[in-house]
Amino acid sequence: MAEALVTTDAGKVVIRNIGLLLSGDIDQPILDADTIVCVNGIITAVGKEKDCDISHADTLIDARQTCVSPGLIDSHVHPVFGDWTPRQNQLGWIESTMNGGVTTMISAGEVHLPGRPKDIVGLKALAITAQRAFDNFRPGGVKVLAGAPVIEQGMVEQDFKDLADAGVTLLGEVGLGSVKAGQEAQMMVAWARKYGIQSTIHTGGPSIPGSGLIDKDVVLEADADIIGHINGGHTSLSEQHVCELCEQSTRGIEIVHNGNEKIAIAAAQAAIQLKCPHRVILGTDGPAGSGVQPLGILRMIALLSSLGNIPPEIVFCFATGNTAKMRNLNCGLIETGRAADFVIMDRAQHTAGRDLLQSLSFGDIPGIGMVIIDGIVRCGRSRNTPPATEVPHIVTGH
Ligand SMILES: [Zn+2]
Repeated sequence: MAEALVTTDAGKVVIRNIGLLLSGDIDQPILDADTIVCVNGIITAVGKEKDCDISHADTLIDARQTCVSPGLIDSHVHPVFGDWTPRQNQLGWIESTMNGGVTTMISAGEVHLPGRPKDIVGLKALAITAQRAFDNFRPGGVKVLAGAPVIEQGMVEQDFKDLADAGVTLLGEVGLGSVKAGQEAQMMVAWARKYGIQSTIHTGGPSIPGSGLIDKDVVLEADADIIGHINGGHTSLSEQHVCELCEQSTRGIEIVHNGNEKIAIAAAQAAIQLKCPHRVILGTDGPAGSGVQPLGILRMIALLSSLGNIPPEIVFCFATGNTAKMRNLNCGLIETGRAADFVIMDRAQHTAGRDLLQSLSFGDIPGIGMVIIDGIVRCGRSRNTPPATEVPHIVTGH
């Protein structure tokens, strides 16, 4: 299960014969290209095969006319340590989620740690430890951006500077700790922002006994960078209040799997109507009371594509490029200089959809044939998705 650190020895990787190339860029979600070239984990060329130098590849992958997308990003997870979650006492959940196409996860707080420290020096120490631990250890190769402290009353500006100086770049969900009032949250969110720490706020009713309500007015006043699980985690604010949040805030609109499905669709459609689809990002909020969902992001893509009536190639951007841009990540987009993190998919066997995009618009999830992180093949045919009709083939490779 143990995986390497940041890997730079992937050599030259060429993916050719791509049938559908999803870019992750919401302004141009489908690329007119069939070939990607990567060197040591970074994309160096994207285009037609005749225009790319595909010679001397260490790994040559024939995509067999299937679909390549940037690896999926789960914007909202609650990791603890290693590939274990105490929420459902489950091992291997991150590696299993990689089999659902997720190559990057972002912690919204290591809140499930048994005995989680709530004193200020303790919560800072935990955040720094979690950041370091997941930086050093990647289950299944997945990049887990962790070390997201849950802010508590009594923190002062220097605490945020200390955290930033120590390498912490995220806040856990505001509202999970003792800071629940809008004004107090706003002050701490602003301190975090001043030192380059990105913030997310819990939105909606309590997730589990012990957590609390954060309503529309608190979300607006706190002004965190991401409106975390705008569709509740699981209990949502009213549809009217969620639409008002989309309209009155300019911050990220995060929709999660462990939330209210009806409001998920309403929030995404509100963003489209407000002409700000670039603000929508997807997460699972797993592990949660509902468990671990390795296919959670794919299921959100199918939900919003089918019942939400949003073109699937646009919805893929919610789970890739939008998140990467909002969170300043070097992944999530198929373009030169970005990380070579890909998921290769095809329509599932026996779906009623003629092709992958139509199958999603019918509500079926695709089959994954391969996941690549930093230019390294992390899995072939997924053990979790329905079987893909066609899977890529490694022609040469170490
Ligand atoms: Zn929450």
